[in-house]
Amino acid sequence: MRCSLDLLMAYMDDQLPSQVEVRVRHHLARCAACRRQLAELRAVRELLSAAPAPAPPPGLVETIMGHVRFREAQRVRTRPQLRFWQGAFAGSAAAALVVALWLVGSSLLEREGGAAAAPAVEAALQEHIVYAALLETGAGDWMDWAWAPAGDRP
Ligand SMILES: [Zn+2]
Repeated sequence: MRCSLDLLMAYMDDQLPSQVEVRVRHHLARCAACRRQLAELRAVRELLSAAPAPAPPPGLVETIMGHVRFREAQRVRTRPQLRFWQGAFAGSAAAALVVALWLVGSSLLEREGGAAAAPAVEAALQEHIVYAALLETGAGDWMDWAWAPAGDRP
C-alpha cells in the first residue's frame, strides 16, 4: 500500500471496509510519515471539534422565505392550474429543507469546527446552506429575484 491522505482520513473516521482498514493499519506500523500525518489530522480534528456552533446569520430566514415566496408566486403565474395547497406544500418542503440543511450544517460544524477556524467555517457554511437551498428551488430564478428592482419582486 502506498501513502494516501484519503485513506488516512477515512481510517481516522472509521469509514474503511475492514480489509482496507487492516492494510492501512499495517502500513501505519511501517510508515513514520503516515503516522505523523495521522497524528496531525487527529490534532486538527480535536481542535476544530472544540469550537462552538455558530448562530445562523442574521437575515437568513428572511432571505430564504423571500425566495420561497418568489417561487410560489412564480409557480402561480406560470402554472395557473396549480392549487394553493400545492404551492403551500412546496413552500413547506423548501422551508423543511432549509431547516434540515441548517441542522446538518450545525452538527457538522460542531464536530468539525474550531475556535480559530470558526469565522471562515461559518461563512462557508452559510454560503453552502444558501446555495443548497437555491439549487433545490432553482438558482436561476433566485438570481432573477435578487437582481430585480425591489418594486418588481413579488
Ligand atoms: Zn505512508
